[in-house]
Amino acid sequence: MEDLDIVIIGAGVWGSSAAAQLARRGHSVLALDRWTPPHANGSHSGRTRLARQSMHEGAGYVPLSSRAFEVWAEYEAEYGVQILRRDGALLVDKADGMLNGPSLESLVLGGWEHEVLTPGQAMARFPALQVADDETALWEPGGRVLLVDPALEVLHKDAARHGATFALGERALSWRVDGEGVTVTTDRRTLRAGRLLITAGVYGPDLIGLDVPLQVERQILVTWEAGPELDGYPMLLWTDAEFGPRSGAYGCPEPGGHYKFALHHEGVVGHPDDLDRTVHEADLKAMTDVLARRLPGLTRAPTAATTCMYTNTPDHGWVFDRHPAGDQVVYATGDSGRSFRYAPAIGEGLADLVEGKDRPDLAFLRPDRFVGAGE
Ligand SMILES: Cc1cc2nc3c(=O)[nH]c(=O)nc-3n(C[C@H](O)[C@H](O)[C@H](O)COP(=O)(O)OP(=O)(O)OC[C@H]3O[C@@H](n4cnc5c(N)ncnc54)[C@H](O)[C@@H]3O)c2cc1C
Repeated sequence: MEDLDIVIIGAGVWGSSAAAQLARRGHSVLALDRWTPPHANGSHSGRTRLARQSMHEGAGYVPLSSRAFEVWAEYEAEYGVQILRRDGALLVDKADGMLNGPSLESLVLGGWEHEVLTPGQAMARFPALQVADDETALWEPGGRVLLVDPALEVLHKDAARHGATFALGERALSWRVDGEGVTVTTDRRTLRAGRLLITAGVYGPDLIGLDVPLQVERQILVTWEAGPELDGYPMLLWTDAEFGPRSGAYGCPEPGGHYKFALHHEGVVGHPDDLDRTVHEADLKAMTDVLARRLPGLTRAPTAATTCMYTNTPDHGWVFDRHPAGDQVVYATGDSGRSFRYAPAIGEGLADLVEGKDRPDLAFLRPDRFVGAGE
């Protein structure tokens, strides 16, 4: 038995950010991870993440987006590592679609630089792109590409530097509230801690064990050589007429002269252990069919592809709360495929909840918002 202030289950980007925050505040922290991040078994696979400032999931995320960019910049300065590349983001959608309407509102609310372009203006700036007459394009110069490996490395380094310990390759099997504290059973030992934070990504729903509407969805990331068509292009996000209003596609420049594309949602839903981790011809065809409509000049074959998984909620918002089994257990789930970039702000918020502090600004993330929502 080990006595600790806090055990964290899951040392991906959310858990390691919380570990760094809690360790900075003087707590003894042990962060367990079933694998060794970065890895391809959860939600952070691939080399990059889009880090646009805007979002379309509601005003509550605006201050979290601002804060996340501030803290990422602090980490970059402190560790002398580049995590964010400022490439800009172009969002193409119907004027009142999920990307342009709410995203524009969030840019105004956040005071972030932006420009609304007509189809002609967007295509003059980015000639490889097709923009229909009934669409508009929203240009966000502050949009950044986030580099996954250095981001995770800095979070782990920062947590360790402030005294946190990582147990990588150790899987939490179960936990229970035990008096004032918590007992966690892993595949190696039994741990005793004052508090528990569950940030287990796609395996979160199993460990949380609550009736929260969560679905794990398989996604594919496909990489091309950028070539002359996409050389110097920013991040691109768009909706597609073949999809429902809440799905779309996106791409971003990657290191080494590459450019990656992915569909957002439209994937198979299931338990993470059962979701297929192989990329098939049909997956690539689904991607290239969408690209043929938006970037018809990109006809060469991709160079690489990998799978990844989202944990979705019905409103694509996160779920953060204290567990009904005891206030000493906090859980965070429902990343909904959009939440790497917010990790430093998420880490701070979760650290506050673990310490028992009130965060009224995070109350909108409680799962009771789904009660009676009919989904
Ligand atoms: C295809 C794809 C594209 C994405 N694009 C973007 C994007 O452009 N921008 C953006 O901001 N976000 C994006 N995301 C989402 C972002 O990557 C996730 O929101 C983020 O990685 C979630 O972090 P996490 O810490 O919750 O999960 P993870 O990073 O998966 O970490 C969870 C960790 O928990 C561990 N774990 C699980 N079970 C156990 C257990 N029993 N015991 C111990 N450890 C356990 C896992 O090993 C894992 O390391 C994308 C996601 C995918 C899949």
